Amino acid sequence: MTDKTISSAKVEPLRKARPCPECGKPSVRENYPFCSDRCRTLDLSRWLNGSYAIPVADDERKADDEDNY
Ligand SMILES: [Zn+2]
Repeated sequence: MTDKTISSAKVEPLRKARPCPECGKPSVRENYPFCSDRCRTLDLSRWLNGSYAIPVADDERKADDEDNY
């Protein structure tokens, strides 16, 4: 038994295209990781809208209230 098979066995595939998080289509390099500019904008606006739901100053306010007592 000899090691003849090491020649060109190391073939790495190109970076796998991720599916677009918005619609699931394969992403394009230009708008990575999205498939199109439209999906990228959609995701961005979703982020902006979602930021309202994040309770940021909740802890601070609570601490303030406890201080008043
Ligand atoms: Zn998409």
